[in-house]
Amino acid sequence: MTSRSKVVRGHVVTPFGDGWADWPDGHVEIEGGSVLSVGPWRSRKGRADYLDLRPHIVFPGLVDVHAHVPQLAVCGVHGDNLLAWLRHWTFPLESRFRGDRAWELSRRFMREMLAQGTTTAGLYTAAWPDSVEACFAAAEEIGIHAWIGPPLMDAGAYRKVTTAQVLREARQLAALDRPRLRFAVTPRFALSCTRALMEGAADLARERQLPIQTHLAEQRAEVREVRRRFHRGYVEVYERAGLIGPRTMFAHCIWMSDRDWRRIASAAVAHCPTSNVFLGSGVMDWKKAHVARVGLGSDVGAGPDLSIFRVARMAWTVHSLAGCAPTAGELLRAATVDGAAALGFDEVGSLEVGKAADFILLDREHVIPAGAPSAESTDDLLSRILHRAGRSAIRQVHVSGRLVFERAMEDSRPA
Ligand SMILES: [Zn+2]
Repeated sequence: MTSRSKVVRGHVVTPFGDGWADWPDGHVEIEGGSVLSVGPWRSRKGRADYLDLRPHIVFPGLVDVHAHVPQLAVCGVHGDNLLAWLRHWTFPLESRFRGDRAWELSRRFMREMLAQGTTTAGLYTAAWPDSVEACFAAAEEIGIHAWIGPPLMDAGAYRKVTTAQVLREARQLAALDRPRLRFAVTPRFALSCTRALMEGAADLARERQLPIQTHLAEQRAEVREVRRRFHRGYVEVYERAGLIGPRTMFAHCIWMSDRDWRRIASAAVAHCPTSNVFLGSGVMDWKKAHVARVGLGSDVGAGPDLSIFRVARMAWTVHSLAGCAPTAGELLRAATVDGAAALGFDEVGSLEVGKAADFILLDREHVIPAGAPSAESTDDLLSRILHRAGRSAIRQVHVSGRLVFERAMEDSRPA
């Protein structure tokens, strides 16, 4: 313990090694924004200056591996098939996401993300370069970890632009890349790209060691259209362009053969079940997906909001109905440490020594109803967090040990 460190005391619950740690009277000691020590309070007994967060639950900040910043405004309306939804609602909205509007709405998006407990994310901006700058600035202000990239499009989208210009802009914007905020090379999906654009994007990512994010096999009609246009399967289109690798994040991956799964095993997958239900896309195979790294994505605006707890619950629902329910522990790891690993941010996602002190404070009464037995297991607690936590349960959010969001709780308590 050193004098410059800060200590919080509360019920600490975090992925730890391969499982979970659960210290009902625990502590996290923070120095320079990182976790210096974590464990039971008794090891810090005698320390007088600490932040007492008891009886509430100190939980790692959530990780949303796939969301679209300009699309928050379309959440919850116009459930349609993917291609019609993009054309009628989403592209017109994104095409206006620039200038002052992009700066203002990027900040609002970040504030809402924090209110939902998310401190690490994979984000798509609009195609306009100034929307990318706005998003980097808004993310920098709060100190989160993120991938940020403009959806690269040179076919059938909302912007009249040449392939060369799209790639030239992406190269310039790649200068924004830094350790905590990665510039992500983001070919939107095969149907908005020519082969030349996908190949150029892969070259840029390889040269600068940048991450890649895109969509894959979300709906049947989309998969059929990819085959019609490129005369090969969806995965093969990306493979031939050079877009598959350990720094690639594929969203959805619903209509996949066993061979397709093997071919993307080195990459990561964004599982987005709230979006997939809303647009009627289908259900990703949870077991097969784990040939790759798997995180959870809100996919706002096809997802109804930025709640990763809601996404985890929807994953539990759809996979339970399909006969293979993941455990609460598995889903909450996907929502935290596994999602962080999927993005290549090994320094966040759990409260372990040396990692960033990114955590949320969950209101105990929201999670554990009054009168519940006191001797419940960690699995019981994780189950309660999975099924009961959400926006209104989040009292505080800390990024690198700094309080960045606080909710007035009294009037939002359940009866
Ligand atoms: Zn998406």
